[in-house]
Amino acid sequence: MKSVIVVGAGIWGSSLALRLADDGWRVTLVEQHRPGHLRQASAGETRLLRCAHGGDEWYTRLAWQARDGWRRLEERAGEELYLEAGMIWFAGTPDGWEHTSAQVLKNLDIECEVLDPADGGRFFPDFRGDDLSFLLREPYAGVIRARRATQVTAALARDAGVRLVRARALPVRDEQTGSHLSAVEIDGERQHADRVVWACGAWLPALFDGLPMTVTKQDTLHFAVPPAWSLPETPAWVDHGAAAYGHGDVDGVGMKASTDGEGPPYEPEHGERVVDPAGVEQARTYLRRRFPSLAQAPVLFTQVGQYALTPDAEWLLAETAPGVWLLGGDSGHGFKHAPALAGYVAGVLDGAYEPEPRFGPHERTPARELRTSGRPR
Ligand SMILES: Cc1cc2nc3c(=O)[nH]c(=O)nc-3n(C[C@H](O)[C@H](O)[C@H](O)COP(=O)(O)OP(=O)(O)OC[C@H]3O[C@@H](n4cnc5c(N)ncnc54)[C@H](O)[C@@H]3O)c2cc1C
Repeated sequence: MKSVIVVGAGIWGSSLALRLADDGWRVTLVEQHRPGHLRQASAGETRLLRCAHGGDEWYTRLAWQARDGWRRLEERAGEELYLEAGMIWFAGTPDGWEHTSAQVLKNLDIECEVLDPADGGRFFPDFRGDDLSFLLREPYAGVIRARRATQVTAALARDAGVRLVRARALPVRDEQTGSHLSAVEIDGERQHADRVVWACGAWLPALFDGLPMTVTKQDTLHFAVPPAWSLPETPAWVDHGAAAYGHGDVDGVGMKASTDGEGPPYEPEHGERVVDPAGVEQARTYLRRRFPSLAQAPVLFTQVGQYALTPDAEWLLAETAPGVWLLGGDSGHGFKHAPALAGYVAGVLDGAYEPEPRFGPHERTPARELRTSGRPR
């Protein structure tokens, strides 16, 4: 039986552990805290699922496959994790990112609709779109109950035979050559496996030198809103040009309205988790412009997370030494893909195919196309 140690029980590590156990591997999943702990990027209350990725077909397809993956996971878990309320993209120009996205969605037979800005009133109780060129609607997009989905995935992995170890793992190097070994060190003891996958999110750059990755603090804001602003009546929304996104209320935590613009550098293990008041004002300014009746909505709930950003927002999946794999650099757009990404990575670990060159540890050229925002904060 092939063996693997996956380090990190965020949504990427937990989904991979579950997939490999299903495929017949002997799997150990090492997590320094608990699956769903609040410092994980995966512990956000909610995460969006969208297929639109500008001109990129690879991620568009993967997101579409992931939608099926979430449905299968829900069936297995017996609970609703993915709320398919749809998503409206606010396009500021006729021929920009949203136009390209619509072309790709149509080419891949993923349903979408181009609408007049005046149609915004059909989806939001109050909407101002006089600065917009058009709306792009993805009916099969929506919102994932992220923290819950992470806990459920890790629990299903355990049910499928994964050994979950609560410990901080360290990489191990060969004393002679200095290259990494397919092993982890836990409390001074070495554990070996055929493959080791370091799925450590924002902790990865502190474990491995020279990665094309920076970690930034990201504040998430939820505002108290009247009942009409709840899912599924009020869908998810993204203004790519303004780096603003959100969705209607889910589970009573309020309407999400945040920025995808990158925040200041951040240390995920010890950084204080208090939101920046300037970000609250920024979100309010956006709400006032787009949904005027929410201009005075009070903040109800906040969370601080972190992005593990690569310059081009392409992920990292690279073998640093035989059997030693780094999986990270989610760049703030990895949650939705997790079930499908796990299948892709499982094939790589099995030797069925090589990872796409785009995921390599090479120097990256800065680009924002894969992000939910077209401009920095
Ligand atoms: C504010 C915000 C909004 C986002 N919005 C979206 C969205 O709408 N849609 C979307 O698809 N994605 C979104 N994302 C991105 C998404 O949350 C991430 O892509 C995803 O959660 C990454 O999961 P992960 O498993 O790689 O990392 P994490 O969830 O951070 O998990 C890494 C885990 O590794 C563990 N670990 C690290 N080092 C060690 C060690 N040495 N030993 C043991 N354990 C270790 C950590 O404790 C942690 O639990 C957003 C992210 C943020 C911050």
